[in-house]
Amino acid sequence: MIDIQKEIQKDRRAFIKNVLSGTIAGSLLMVIPAGAALDQRLPEQISGIRGDDSPFTEKKFAFVVDVTACIGCGSCCVADKNEYNVPDGNYRTWVERYIIDDHDEVFVDSPNGGLDGYTEERTDIPYPVRDTFFVPKLCNMCEKPSCVQVCPVGATYKTEDGFILVDKNRCVGCGYCIQACPYSVRFLNPISKTAEKCTWCYSRVRQGLLPACVNVCPVHARKFGDLNDKTSEVYKLLREPHVISVLKPGMGNQPALHYLGLRREVV
Ligand code: SF4
Ligand code: SF4
Repeated sequence: MIDIQKEIQKDRRAFIKNVLSGTIAGSLLMVIPAGAALDQRLPEQISGIRGDDSPFTEKKFAFVVDVTACIGCGSCCVADKNEYNVPDGNYRTWVERYIIDDHDEVFVDSPNGGLDGYTEERTDIPYPVRDTFFVPKLCNMCEKPSCVQVCPVGATYKTEDGFILVDKNRCVGCGYCIQACPYSVRFLNPISKTAEKCTWCYSRVRQGLLPACVNVCPVHARKFGDLNDKTSEVYKLLREPHVISVLKPGMGNQPALHYLGLRREVV
């Protein structure tokens, strides 16, 4: 396994140049703990998750993505794919690359959801690049989730501890929730024919573990914690004077996913 900190220090200038040009060495993807004990079940399929007598009602979980830290390596996406056996071409989380040229034109791409990192420099940008950054996307775990409101059979539901999950056994695959989600984070699993999305690794969290993507991020761009714990990093970040924002606030979904250093160009 490559030690990313050593790799960065080895040739810091070259590393920074790669990041600024919107590419990142594919070898850095080796930081992923590939094949780590895979549990093929969805969190909501694990017994005791739904109807459990002791939900984390005393906790208020939040997720913070630090856009200023993300290097677009894709380790988080690979960890997620491994954890949930996500079918090829579908993504529970993905990373977008934003490139802004000096005429303020914005170019966004996410080849294979960022799963392979960004090894290719874009050659179709007409003017000099003035800025490049990466934006990880995942379920916003909305306080007012459109997906729950439209599900005709109650398969998409909110747990007492604030997680939005899908009960695979009840889902009829109508796709209403996929249409309703303003963040396009849901897809129809081509094998089970049921709706699927990121759960913030509910089953891991119930076991006291971090979400898989948070666990592997080599630069700590993904942060997860309890807002009722005043010592937690997310509590401090959301209470202190930082530039923190949510995606599409006008939709009224009130996401529990927050972004640090989000740019106005991000949609
Ligand atoms: S981001 Fe989409 S899928 Fe996730 S809770 Fe909000 S509306 Fe539902
Ligand atoms: S969030 Fe972390 S793991 Fe994911 S692409 Fe960004 S730097 Fe890599």
